[in-house]
Amino acid sequence: MRIEADPDVCVSSGMCALTAPDLFDQSDDGTVVVLRSDPPAERVAAVRGVVWRCPSRALKLVDTTTG
Ligand code: SF4
Repeated sequence: MRIEADPDVCVSSGMCALTAPDLFDQSDDGTVVVLRSDPPAERVAAVRGVVWRCPSRALKLVDTTTG
């Protein structure tokens, strides 16, 4: 699995960094920074929740086994 983020779409809500601070941070202007794009298996469920709750749909979790 791979986390993809589009900072051009991000509205700087900070939800991702608050929910999963081991995987996400925010830049000085508040936009998302992915700290780890390859989440460990035990964090995939948490990432799915973050992707679902992102208010701007700036995040994606891509299944790298299917391309
Ligand atoms: S939850 Fe979405 S909109 Fe909010 S900071 Fe993260 S990527 Fe940006």
